[in-house]
Amino acid sequence: MENTEKTGDGGYLTGKLDHLVGLARKNSIWPLPLATKCCGIEFMATMGAHYDFARFGSEKLSFSPRQCDVLMVMGTISKKMAPVVKEIYVQMSEPRWVIAVGACASSGGIFDSYSVLQGIDKIIPVDVYIPGCPPRPEQIIDGLMKAQELIGNEHLRRRHSKEYQELLKKYGIE
Ligand code: SF4
Repeated sequence: MENTEKTGDGGYLTGKLDHLVGLARKNSIWPLPLATKCCGIEFMATMGAHYDFARFGSEKLSFSPRQCDVLMVMGTISKKMAPVVKEIYVQMSEPRWVIAVGACASSGGIFDSYSVLQGIDKIIPVDVYIPGCPPRPEQIIDGLMKAQELIGNEHLRRRHSKEYQELLKKYGIE
């Protein structure tokens, strides 16, 4: 309804299109799992038949940054590896989202060390944080559902907004 008020007559269609695109996007996520450590093992369990990730439309994993929507980072990211993670993010097409899975990806976890990145949000914008060391598959699913909520409700023009461009600039991403 907010869009309708802002854009007048054409707003009704814009609002509905947002909804339709959001619905399609959130139910056809192609995740890129970047697993460096033990949280990745929990993700493997999540992908198994018991937890059935496929029911969220997210079973098609992609290992090419050009062919995925959601980067899922799991495990410790060393400072040496940080530029690689950032490059993967940069190579993803818009719209793209990021989930930090587990304590290490979210904040460095127990590895408060000179060589470990204290959270991937130091180098790229993160949309959803999943707590736990490691998070159980249920928590990973919960995180994916939170991402789906964000994706489903995202305004189509967000990626062109000044606010989003400022966010990318903050991370040195053009
Ligand atoms: S959060 Fe815990 S389980 Fe996950 S990668 Fe770090 S140490 Fe391993």
